[in-house]
Amino acid sequence: MEERKERRIIMFPLPFLGHFNPMIKLAGIFHRSGFSVTILHTSFNPPDPSLYPEFTFRTIHHNNEGEEEDPLAQPEASGMDLVAFIRLLRQTYAEPFRESLTAQVGGGEKVCCLVSDVVWGKNTEDAAEEVGIRRMVLSTSGAASFCAYAAYPLLRDKHYLPIQDSRLDEPVTELTPLKVKDLPVMETNEPEELFRVVNNMVKGAKSSSGIIWNTFEDLERPSLMALNSELQVPIFLIGPFHKHTDSFLPTTKSKEDHVTTDWLDKQDPKSVIYVSFGSLADIEEKEFLEIAWGLRNSQRPFLWVVRPGLVRGTEWLESLSREFIDNISRKGKIVKWVNQLEVLAHPAVGAFWTHCGWNSTLESICEGVPMICTPCFTDQRVNARYIVDVWQAGVMLERSKMDRKEIEKVIRSVIIEEGDGLTEMCLKWKERAKVCLSKDGSSSRYLEKLVTHVLSIDSNACAS
Ligand code: UDP
Repeated sequence: MEERKERRIIMFPLPFLGHFNPMIKLAGIFHRSGFSVTILHTSFNPPDPSLYPEFTFRTIHHNNEGEEEDPLAQPEASGMDLVAFIRLLRQTYAEPFRESLTAQVGGGEKVCCLVSDVVWGKNTEDAAEEVGIRRMVLSTSGAASFCAYAAYPLLRDKHYLPIQDSRLDEPVTELTPLKVKDLPVMETNEPEELFRVVNNMVKGAKSSSGIIWNTFEDLERPSLMALNSELQVPIFLIGPFHKHTDSFLPTTKSKEDHVTTDWLDKQDPKSVIYVSFGSLADIEEKEFLEIAWGLRNSQRPFLWVVRPGLVRGTEWLESLSREFIDNISRKGKIVKWVNQLEVLAHPAVGAFWTHCGWNSTLESICEGVPMICTPCFTDQRVNARYIVDVWQAGVMLERSKMDRKEIEKVIRSVIIEEGDGLTEMCLKWKERAKVCLSKDGSSSRYLEKLVTHVLSIDSNACAS
């Protein structure tokens, strides 16, 4: 253990919550395994280092040679779709990252390796090579969706992509159980860029010294076997990250967190539907109103996260009249943000209506909470199909079919009728997630292998 303390791992997360959260948890796992950790973070969307005193943080500033403003803070950037934004992010930070990594590695301390988010792609590879350290990647999505990304060239050759509306319900026989509508794409003005980002990500994973996955073997065995032969690099399935230790739960709670917990404490066991579409997805005002009425008509208590920016083109709750809010507040609670890990673990929560982001999916599985799946884009669609058809841990509520009547029907089927063996399946998955982190469980064994691997790539190519 002492020996490892002198060894540092440098981590480079993508600056979005769904990517930063698992990276910081992975940093905690490395730290508990005896490594020191430095997080290189973009000046865009920076975290608060005081929340993580055990790590060293270094801010990478955007390349402002000859230009004063951060390109990511410009109005044009805020109007971009996610694909265009990721292109800009990667362009903006490529050179500053290289400089920052060089400065860190040249600092005299032994650096074992770089762990970068897989979405940074091959961009980080040359920089790591230049300073003589190995690069591992963290995949913050599930293995099944990565299989679909890895199949992009084939999907294109076979004309599944770009998606045609007339083929939405067709099965993709090469990626069972996915249908064409489940393929991980998103609306963008730069479709070619989407292909580039995905291909670059897959290439970057293939040329890495190993891939760390926030998933567990029991959950995704067939996809992982497929990836093993496709990627040909060591794979470490050490998830679910957030369950490695209770210390990953925040020790301080905000006033709003207390209010939410007090409200949940007053509800009956398994009676509440928790609704959240994560940190990035947005919806139309019309959809927002259907959700509001569907929740109200279901007569179930609900906790609904309406983060600012959730409803396209509006501020917060403008669409709902005061009368409506008063009307629903007897049954439901609308908040801007919650501590989701705590909410899902609360005994009052009976279902999670989710956009099926990978973190949300895993967090729900770990608490045995059945899901209502309304995927919005990219891997969420794959996750939703697996939740419903493979893991049988939820039901689908497609966005295109999301009217108040359907919403009410689906909520009642999950919360009152408890689906078709849904609760039992969810409890099974909860147990399996627990077992994989037990002493001889698969994730614990992979973690041991990962530590050995990091130390071995360090001695093969270590910059000191
Ligand atoms: N989250 C949270 N409070 C909220 C909504 C989300 O803490 O009110 C957290 C959630 O626990 C998860 C992350 O934000 O860890 C969202 O990641 P996910 O992959 O589910 O979706 P994304 O935001 O990337 O679309």
